[in-house]
Amino acid sequence: MNRKVLILVETREGKVRNVSLESLSAAKQVANDGEIIAAIFEADSEQYLTTLTQHGADNIYLIKNEQLQTFTTDGYVQAFCQVIKEVKPDVIFLGHTAIGKDIAPRVATRLGWGLISDVTHVAVEGNDILFTRPIYAGKAFEVKKVVEGKIFATIRPNNLPIGEIDFEKTVKSTDYSVEIQDIRTTVKEVIRKSTGGVDLSEANVIVSGGRGVKGEEGFILLKELADVLGGAIGASRGACDADYCDYSLQIGQTGKVVTPDLYIACGISGAIQHVAGMSNSKVIVAINKDPEAPIFQVADYGIVGDLFEVLPLLTEEFKKLKYATV
Ligand SMILES: Cc1cc2nc3c(=O)[nH]c(=O)nc-3n(C[C@H](O)[C@H](O)[C@H](O)COP(=O)(O)OP(=O)(O)OC[C@H]3O[C@@H](n4cnc5c(N)ncnc54)[C@H](O)[C@@H]3O)c2cc1C
Repeated sequence: MNRKVLILVETREGKVRNVSLESLSAAKQVANDGEIIAAIFEADSEQYLTTLTQHGADNIYLIKNEQLQTFTTDGYVQAFCQVIKEVKPDVIFLGHTAIGKDIAPRVATRLGWGLISDVTHVAVEGNDILFTRPIYAGKAFEVKKVVEGKIFATIRPNNLPIGEIDFEKTVKSTDYSVEIQDIRTTVKEVIRKSTGGVDLSEANVIVSGGRGVKGEEGFILLKELADVLGGAIGASRGACDADYCDYSLQIGQTGKVVTPDLYIACGISGAIQHVAGMSNSKVIVAINKDPEAPIFQVADYGIVGDLFEVLPLLTEEFKKLKYATV
């Protein structure tokens, strides 16, 4: 079955976010020989045309309106609803990001559709599209399909593969003006909390600290390891509550949900609310001095020991591997 698929593109610091490229790859899977349309709201979005085309977009809607220069819930919801009415897609994908989580339920409500959120796997079986998503804080997965109406889903970052690049594909774009009314909020300034230059939700490696890290200084040890591995720093709520680090680093049920290739949990007990945010990581390493700590139940590798002794040794060994002459 051929389908028309619409995806909403997000960018960060002059680059298309990985989750949008992952959504394009899912779009290719479900479109078959149908059409893939990428909608992008940011100013100067012409710079992204080649990347989006090479990753599968057949047409890129450059959504024009001065009030879309910065994200506002009102502005993006109104604009995206107009794009959907214009494009008339069969399937719509957004990232399960702060923006996606904010606007997708509102758009679904306005248009009277259902929404499958936080999708970690997409499969096509006959005429059906099957979406896998975690439930019970990541303890189980359910597989859903839409039996009536439009197919509308948000894709969890870092779970679907980015598809192959097609260097031959011709760029096609459409300027599309939208009308925006009654924006109730204005973004005056965007202050980004730094996670060492690597976006936590898209990081391949995360070194995460808990209350066992004992203080702000303890996080310096974690940062040293993260830097060698090219990763980001994360934290448990215990560490955030104790003021060892900023809440923007919190991973878990009420923090960020992450799926890195490697998650190193240092001095984190492994409470269910923390595990909900990191249990889908591909490889989990736990460092904890308590051999009974629940984190070892979800870990692939466990180190029972004092993190203040273990971390410097690990950093040293990874440095040797990284800088070894070949
Ligand atoms: C509604 C709700 C939502 C929540 N949401 C979240 C959430 O999103 N994310 C989250 O993380 N938590 C969340 N929590 C809190 C959660 O229940 C735990 O309290 C929290 O995760 C504990 O943090 P921790 O593991 O860092 O601290 P602790 O439970 O105190 O564990 C510290 C660990 O460090 C180990 N340790 C101590 N010293 C060392 C050392 N020198 N070397 C090695 N190991 C050492 C200890 O053995 C211990 O296992 C939530 C709770 C509620 C009720």
